[in-house]
Amino acid sequence: MYTCEIISVGTELLLGDILNTNEQFLSKELASMGIAVLHRSSVGDNRERLAEEIRLALKRSDIVITSGGLGPTPDDLTKEVCCEVMECPLAENKEQTEKIKRYFEKKGMDMPESNLKQALLPVGGIVFENNNGTAPGGAIEKNGKCLIFLPGPPRELIPMFRGCAKPLLKKYSSGTIVSHNIRTMEIGESALAELARDHMDLPNPTVAPYAKDGEALLRVTAGAESEERAEELCKPVIEDILKRLGKYVYGVDYDSIQQRVVELLHKHNKKLAIAESCTAGYTAKRLTEIPGSSEVFDCGIVSYSNDIKMNLLGVSEATLKQYGAVSSQTACEMAEGVRRTGGADLGISITGVAGPGSDSENKPAGLVYIAISDGKKTVWEKLETGRENDREYNRYVSASRALNLVRKYLEKII
Ligand code: ATP
Ligand code: MG
Repeated sequence: MYTCEIISVGTELLLGDILNTNEQFLSKELASMGIAVLHRSSVGDNRERLAEEIRLALKRSDIVITSGGLGPTPDDLTKEVCCEVMECPLAENKEQTEKIKRYFEKKGMDMPESNLKQALLPVGGIVFENNNGTAPGGAIEKNGKCLIFLPGPPRELIPMFRGCAKPLLKKYSSGTIVSHNIRTMEIGESALAELARDHMDLPNPTVAPYAKDGEALLRVTAGAESEERAEELCKPVIEDILKRLGKYVYGVDYDSIQQRVVELLHKHNKKLAIAESCTAGYTAKRLTEIPGSSEVFDCGIVSYSNDIKMNLLGVSEATLKQYGAVSSQTACEMAEGVRRTGGADLGISITGVAGPGSDSENKPAGLVYIAISDGKKTVWEKLETGRENDREYNRYVSASRALNLVRKYLEKII
């Protein structure tokens, strides 16, 4: 298998001013081509340090890809440094000069002299046309190594990688890598790993657990000479894991719990109403991120105060007095009330303490009750996130769990 590394160039990356999305994109693309990315590094706009980084990368890897620093300004040095390290002279590429001139003409602008620098290209190298900007990228193949330089802006780098670099890299590709994500809730990362333990010791497919806010996922990854073969390797492992994990799994390759819930509501032809206290609309917001949610979402009521819980949702004063706003009893009455108010098939509710610190009734942050009602039965759950000082986490996880309650109801788990 050929090895590759990625060097991201730009002082703004080191300062934390921009997020390095290019390396994530490139890593994913290369992995899917069966090219092993073994190192990634970032370096500022500095000639010596960039040269040192490229030399080191070329010593240990077959392919080196740089991103950024192809612009016309003096701090854009990547192409010059690549040529210097590869001992490859630069010469004006007349075609590129014309292209850059036309680019500015089309925009009705005068071309700054400095842009001509972008038409200087490595002699004997390969030119990557830039259809979304002025800086061409390129590749230099020499002494068994391949050095590729791409522009920094993602809207230029992505199409250039796909259109120009990928075809060139085909010859280094050893088959393909396929990944599937088994997404779960209500089970911790270590318990998940325990259940899939024997699969995790095998080399192909590999199975690895990851924790996300309030969720855990298992990633199953197989490498093979073709996509079909990689899928064949994944299939029995995924089926076995799904059997073992059962009700904890909300889906394979879903982007989010809300995506699964909208799909299930459509499938069962049900409309949902949501009453939210401590999440104040977060659940409704997440549900409506999904296209097509309008056909299955009835209404959301943000019932922060006790008055609104009583007046809009019909929660009884006695319940609030006896058990408090953060209680299973209030959660159930909220779910029943919002379902009735909206005339929906299902009502769900969330009431809890987002934190930081306890509420006026001395209930701890991270204590949340959620409920679901279909008009005949009402089911509630209690969450204790244990995160006293993480308001955002408590709100996010409460919304996730309320959506998961809908999923469990529609899958007849509860
Ligand atoms: P330009 O002609 O725009 O100067 P360039 O090839 O010289 O392009 P840079 O100057 O390094 O690229 O970066 C230009 C912009 O591209 C950055 O300000 C940033 O918005 C974006 N960018 C650069 N590198 C990355 C990266 N690794 N991930 C995401 N965005 C990036
Ligand atoms: Mg630049």
